[in-house]
Amino acid sequence: MPVQTLTPVTPAEQMSIVRCASCHATLDDRTARATCPNCGGLLAVEHTLALPDGETLRARFDERLGVESYRGTAAERSGVWRFRELVLPGARAEEIVSHPEGNTPLVARDAVASFAGVRQLWLKHEGHNPSASFKDRGMTAALTQARRIGAVAVACASTGNTSASLAAYAAQAGIPAFVLVPEGRVSTGKLAQTLAYGAHMIRLRGDFDDCLELAREASERLGIYLVNSLNPFRVEGQKTIVLEMLQQLGWEAPDWIALPAGNLGNTAAFGKALREAYALGLIDRVPRLLAVQAAGAAPFAAGFSDDFATRRRVRAETAATAIRIGDPASWDRAVDAIRFSHGHVAAVSDAEIFAAKRVIDSCGVGCEPASAASVAGVRVLAERGIIGGDERVVAVLTGHLLKDPDAALAARAAGGLGSEESLSREEALGHLARVLASE
Ligand SMILES: [Zn+2]
Repeated sequence: MPVQTLTPVTPAEQMSIVRCASCHATLDDRTARATCPNCGGLLAVEHTLALPDGETLRARFDERLGVESYRGTAAERSGVWRFRELVLPGARAEEIVSHPEGNTPLVARDAVASFAGVRQLWLKHEGHNPSASFKDRGMTAALTQARRIGAVAVACASTGNTSASLAAYAAQAGIPAFVLVPEGRVSTGKLAQTLAYGAHMIRLRGDFDDCLELAREASERLGIYLVNSLNPFRVEGQKTIVLEMLQQLGWEAPDWIALPAGNLGNTAAFGKALREAYALGLIDRVPRLLAVQAAGAAPFAAGFSDDFATRRRVRAETAATAIRIGDPASWDRAVDAIRFSHGHVAAVSDAEIFAAKRVIDSCGVGCEPASAASVAGVRVLAERGIIGGDERVVAVLTGHLLKDPDAALAARAAGGLGSEESLSREEALGHLARVLASE
């Protein structure tokens, strides 16, 4: 792919620019690059649109929640494009690829709050998105950008949720999709979704980090648009998890936002969302981020322990496949997010993750294993007194229970809730009576 000319951009000419975090080169907002053409650095979107004060902007976002919006286009009903001034304001209506997505619930359950050791805990359940994970928020923005630049194809490396989401949005956009997943490391639910939506899948004999490297190479050599988590437009869409939860809380920021942390794309996006929301006056104080890693895949937690003096890499091992990542792509942005929010990074064992999942599942909410890391992390920090019992906490659940049916069944077999029996018609009634008596 030829190196794109770096065009000088002024705020008056554009509503967004794309800037390299390393060499500070700027590209216009219709760039097809996922990384800096000068130095290979990470790109970030900056919005230069002149916006009104926080109160006016809050009122505008709230107005779009009204009944009238449900008669509008998918983009008007989307929980991502509701905040379009902060996502991709230059996207024209006909360019937007929206399911719609977002509008996910804030769920409160006493059993989960009690388990976590805090009185006020909400679960922001991103598993309620169209492909059943938070990835749809970034993907609507990335596929919109793919359409804006006339991409011939899109590709990603994935632990599974990204591939399912990419496949869904590429299908809607009518753009061929390629997904690279590590052989034997992706759950059944996610594989089934990706294929059903019609993507071309390569199960690479290697780990996630090998998949990421190959995706970058395919992008460079074949001109395929790369929509990995380092794609700057995905970050813009993922910011709306935070914007939407703030709106649901009446724009009163919680004390903490806890989230599962693997590739650190969400940690980075949440930091950017909070920085912008605070600068625009949407909120008057900044919640602290708690990024939670699985102990077997915790380079970022190790980095936090020495104030991120060095970038860490580990060989990742955890049953929480969605966060089984040893060399997180968005490290630098995530460090910035933790520092800006005076946040914290914790590591929790798989046993602690599955204990949290059991409680989340048992009150009828349910989530995939990696999601439960957020609640497990809150419990650990509450035990240590870092999170106070009276502080208001939102824990993000990133994916739906059915994303990993094998994990759900394995947990049941290992003594989880529920029961199953294979019985004849004659035996069944007596069994029902015995179970009823024991309840
Ligand atoms: Zn650069």
